[in-house]
Amino acid sequence: MNLSDINTVKSLLSQEGFAFKKSLGQNFLIDGGVCPMMAEAACDGDTGVIEIGPGIGVLTSELAKRAKRVAAIELDGRLKKILDKTVGGFTNTEIIYGDAMKIDLKKLIADKFADCKRVAVCANLPYYITSPLIMSLLEQRLPIDNITVMVQKEAAERLCAEIGTREAGAVSVAVSYYSVPNVLFTVDRDCFLPSPKVDSSVIQLKIRKSPPISVKDEQAFFKFIRACFAQRRKTLVNTVSNSLNIDRERVRNALIKLGIREDVRSEGLTMEQLALISDNLFA
Ligand code: SAM
Repeated sequence: MNLSDINTVKSLLSQEGFAFKKSLGQNFLIDGGVCPMMAEAACDGDTGVIEIGPGIGVLTSELAKRAKRVAAIELDGRLKKILDKTVGGFTNTEIIYGDAMKIDLKKLIADKFADCKRVAVCANLPYYITSPLIMSLLEQRLPIDNITVMVQKEAAERLCAEIGTREAGAVSVAVSYYSVPNVLFTVDRDCFLPSPKVDSSVIQLKIRKSPPISVKDEQAFFKFIRACFAQRRKTLVNTVSNSLNIDRERVRNALIKLGIREDVRSEGLTMEQLALISDNLFA
């Protein structure tokens, strides 16, 4: 069965009377080239893969052909009959019906992938949970090798932005702290059924063994980073003092002490400089 053929997809869906739920980010891939490339980038025969949102199983089947084991988490129970038909024959693949934001992934990895050399997360992500899900995967410090996911093109640019450039925001700092991000390729909106309003990109986050900088208080650092980018048009002194309700002079003095211009904007600083300011203010 060719799961990226639009007629096959339509016929599978209509046999089950399936209607797309926009609220679940249900845009299914109907391009034959994308899933093999994603699966190839994410895993090999020693990898256990967590897929989030298998839909009708188009990416799942490509992962199942290449990975040692696949555990795919799908929130929409209406897809069960279709998934039984499309990927039920893969003995290395299990579909877990539940919310990927709520499932204990550390436990899932320990339970399902004990015999795998590495673990990856691979998905065409439902757009409404892109950032919270990626942040949760990173912050949990799961024992994973990479996160290879399709996200909206704009989100990809923000997530993978180099720190110290205009595109960077708080989420880019967090992503680069936990991983080495890369945009692999872009995917046109016409490659989906139904077609969304925007194009997408596949990104890969290679998880770091340790962060690229050291901070004295990680929690304080991320609170500071959120404040740094909360009011993007303002100088760092203004946005940080406003957002964290601290004295402007205190922030100004921290910059002067580090030899950083006091009218600097957060987007003009490297992660190392941001860490030094945070340490200076909060450690
Ligand atoms: N992988 C399929 C593909 O590429 O065609 C479907 C991708 S579609 C963009 C997103 C999928 O995620 C849908 O199947 C949707 O039901 C599922 N989904 C939405 N929210 C979810 C959640 N919180 N946990 C798990 N799956 C979810």
